[in-house]
Amino acid sequence: MDLSKDVKYVKGVGPSRVQLLNKLGIFTLEDLITYYPRTYEDRSKAKNIVECVNGEETVIEAIACGKVSDVRLKGKTMQKLLVRDETGSATMTWFNQSYLKNKFKIGQKYKFYGKITNNFGKITINSPVFDEEETNFNTGKIIPLYPLTYKLSQNVLRKIMENALLEVENNLKETLPGYILEQYKLEEINKSIKDIHFPRELKDFEIARKRLVFEELLSTQLALLQIKNNYISNQNGIEFDKEIKISDVINILPFKLTKAQLRVLEEIDNDMESKKSMNRLLQGDVGSGKTVVAMCAAYKAVKCGYQAAIMAPTAILATQHLENFQNILKKLDIRCELLISGISKKKKEELLERLEQGQIDILIGTHAIIEENVKFKNLGLVVTDEQHRFGVKQRTKIAQKGKNPDVLVMTATPIPRTLALILYGDLDISIIDELPPNRKKVETFAVQKNMTERVNAFIEKQVKEGHQAYIVCPLVEENEELDLKSVEQLYETYKTEIFPQYKVEYIHGKMRPREKDSIMERFKSGEIDILISTTVIEVGVDVPNSNIMVIENAERFGLAQLHQLRGRVGRGDYQSYCILKFEGKSKMVRERMNIMCSTNDGFVISEKDLELRGSGDFFGTLQHGIPEFKIANLFEDMPILKIVQNAAIEIMKDDAKLEKEKNQLLNKLIKTKFMDRIEI
Ligand code: ADP
Ligand code: MG
Repeated sequence: MDLSKDVKYVKGVGPSRVQLLNKLGIFTLEDLITYYPRTYEDRSKAKNIVECVNGEETVIEAIACGKVSDVRLKGKTMQKLLVRDETGSATMTWFNQSYLKNKFKIGQKYKFYGKITNNFGKITINSPVFDEEETNFNTGKIIPLYPLTYKLSQNVLRKIMENALLEVENNLKETLPGYILEQYKLEEINKSIKDIHFPRELKDFEIARKRLVFEELLSTQLALLQIKNNYISNQNGIEFDKEIKISDVINILPFKLTKAQLRVLEEIDNDMESKKSMNRLLQGDVGSGKTVVAMCAAYKAVKCGYQAAIMAPTAILATQHLENFQNILKKLDIRCELLISGISKKKKEELLERLEQGQIDILIGTHAIIEENVKFKNLGLVVTDEQHRFGVKQRTKIAQKGKNPDVLVMTATPIPRTLALILYGDLDISIIDELPPNRKKVETFAVQKNMTERVNAFIEKQVKEGHQAYIVCPLVEENEELDLKSVEQLYETYKTEIFPQYKVEYIHGKMRPREKDSIMERFKSGEIDILISTTVIEVGVDVPNSNIMVIENAERFGLAQLHQLRGRVGRGDYQSYCILKFEGKSKMVRERMNIMCSTNDGFVISEKDLELRGSGDFFGTLQHGIPEFKIANLFEDMPILKIVQNAAIEIMKDDAKLEKEKNQLLNKLIKTKFMDRIEI
């Protein structure tokens, strides 16, 4: 069975459909049969007409009472058919389907499926699908519904899928080892694939799904563990000198580190002093103080005779890090420099020269650091900040500028540990689960339109007292469809109508980096009172004097993102506020707003977000460099994930390189799935 064959050879797939399938990412027979349904419709059981409920989607079995009538109606044609069963009669209607005229034979039984309209006992189904009594294409079974794009209909894809499944029937080679199937009581591959598309009953579907989810999660987990093992076994990292004490930095800090900071520093210190390379993820909520942790690690690397690279996602952030680093590390004779794309050619050349000579100890910058001509004398530590902006590849690319330097990845996206294990299975994890003391909770309120004036008065009060405000809106350009206020429009309103007396500016992601930086600089220096912005401010810029953030159309944001945004305020000593303006009355929206108002804990929020939105949305898989899951849902499938995590550990304990005969299938599975990650 050649699963790699082009999907165009599947029966029912002509040239135009090939293109449509390709758009869905379906190129081969294998892609096709692993294109799983989004949901299902149970059309297995018919109802009596008298039982039909308004608005419900139902199958009825009924006899055609007459011919299809075909009437003209405002440029359309409308077809009507009267049908009946023992309990009553109903009308089937279609538009522009004149070919149906001779489709039905009077007195013959058909099955119809569609949405019921019950108008004072008059039952109608608009545009029903149907089958003859003995056939089961549209009815009489559980029907899969696929995630589809324009132009490819469910019926067409379903037919193609049926053909494909007929072709592979009982010929699929098992992809999981027998002992795994047995140990975890998993269904074999042929039945699983068949049942995931066309389950006969709910139970079949559940069994099939469990197996496929298990397989998907297991291969991900094993691949990540292998990457991690490769680091450990093949790479002899730097053994940083035990005599160099991080406490030298800690002692000159203007504040006391939290217990959590001290704990993660110890974990990092141990990694650095050990023989293997460090590959550690540092997770901590916004404002939990990750930067200073990175600084301590960089100090150690430098005093041990190595250089450190700190990579931030934006120039503003890199600049901010540089300032923070210099403030402290100057006193310890450490030379920090900034490399961002904005600096002049001459300055850059000179900087690169000094870097290569070893005259720069810590290089802080944006992805400009990754460029080929950036050469270190002896890079010993790489820190990437806000890792969700960098891919795994970028991370490794910079690590390759040294000889197995230690790597610390920092992220402010708090995620539950179980999930961190699968998303960052190749990294060890440290968590800062405590904020510095005396940090005031950002008071959060959710309000609707009718409160706008009060909100504005509140902003004014804060600005009058010398503070600054952020106003965040979700989109850059006018989008009529969603009726969202664009930055520019919002800017006009605030500047000319609401706050003409204050300095209002705006910033958005489509501006040139230099423009953005200059606006952020002016905001930081206090020159701008009110900054209208898109989510570009989401990433760690520190403006302690800004103590109020208003988020327009807050219902449009994910909770994790709202939390990140909110983290921009509450960085100073003053009480800070976050006002979520939302529209809509749905229970879901209210619930989400309530969560934001009731907690400032990023971990709680991310867990809730995951619960409410599902994992697909949440992670924006591309950002993580993790392949998209075809079937697993990290929230729903948490129980399976836990089993899989243990299974993976056991398998690796027994056969770390998956070399044993019995694990050959697993080996193959992860190689084909994760080729580009394994090369690390
Ligand atoms: P994040 O984890 O979001 O990157 P930062 O490292 O930017 O947080 O820290 C936020 C602010 O808290 C900074 O101004 C930093 O100087 C300060 N800070 C960090 N650790 C402590 C601490 N232990 N006590 C008081 N302030 C701290
Ligand atoms: Mg930070």
